[in-house]
Amino acid sequence: MTGQPVRAAPRDPRKAQFEAAKLAKRLRRQVGEAIVDFNLIGEGDRVMVCLSGGKDSYGMLDVLLALREKAPVRFEIVAVNLDQKQPGFPAQVLPEYLGSRGVDFRIVEQDTYSIVQRVIAEGKTKCSLCSRLRRGVLYRVAGELGATKIALGHHRDDILATFFLNLFYGGKLKAMPAKLVSDDGKHVVIRPLAYVAEEDLVAYAQLKGFPLIPCTLCGSQTNLQRQVVRQMLAEWEKRHPGRIESMLRALSDVRPSHLMDRRLFDFRALLPGGLPDPDGDRAFDPTDPGEPRFAEGMDDDLPAAGGGAK
Ligand code: SF4
Repeated sequence: MTGQPVRAAPRDPRKAQFEAAKLAKRLRRQVGEAIVDFNLIGEGDRVMVCLSGGKDSYGMLDVLLALREKAPVRFEIVAVNLDQKQPGFPAQVLPEYLGSRGVDFRIVEQDTYSIVQRVIAEGKTKCSLCSRLRRGVLYRVAGELGATKIALGHHRDDILATFFLNLFYGGKLKAMPAKLVSDDGKHVVIRPLAYVAEEDLVAYAQLKGFPLIPCTLCGSQTNLQRQVVRQMLAEWEKRHPGRIESMLRALSDVRPSHLMDRRLFDFRALLPGGLPDPDGDRAFDPTDPGEPRFAEGMDDDLPAAGGGAK
């Protein structure tokens, strides 16, 4: 598959055309919404689009290029790929593609592969060191290019997988935001695909025939815990369609007073305000949102003190 366009299965051409237009429109709308919601890109920005050669970063670049045509603000795009010198990396693929699209780009050659091979014992996961090294290089390049934003291709499903990894293994309520300052404090990192579903990016890559570069060249096992979480999310979505969207919405609707982080909400100083508060505690309601009695408008039918009280 190296460097070869992905071919879509032959279908009814008119239907396929309609679906393709719908998909492209949906991606542009979702990326546009994320840009507006989080103020990801503004007038005069120089956006460094990190391109790995995978479907996500190709999709991100393509949609940003399309949006730039009609955006009410002027911004520049410079695509950057880090050639980590993995064996078999098809170095000509990205320059050819970017040249054909007329995109300003820079290929950075840095042999992080050898470092990772040397430092990490065989059979151990190499991704953590590899990512750290890559991050350092990309921050440096962003500075050299005068980039005001670093755009990464993480999508909705990556964000949710990260959320559950932190929840299950890290003891933290923390996902991957659409916008954050980099850990060296010098750059603004943005994720324009934050609202986009991975399956749409797969379909978009097929539709556009992006010359994908496989992500297995390093020979490392991808993070097993992440794989398990992704599988869990896929199974949930299959059994309960709409659950992923619901969880993504939940990340944008956080109630610190209904969690237990004392740094976010001053529980110790809490006193009754004397006025009804729709967000206040419904002390005797059932605790399970799945129970029928949880539904709006049924409170009046409940006995004064129900079994949900703890
Ligand atoms: S899969 Fe390979 S290239 Fe990707 S982060 Fe892990 S070690 Fe690095």
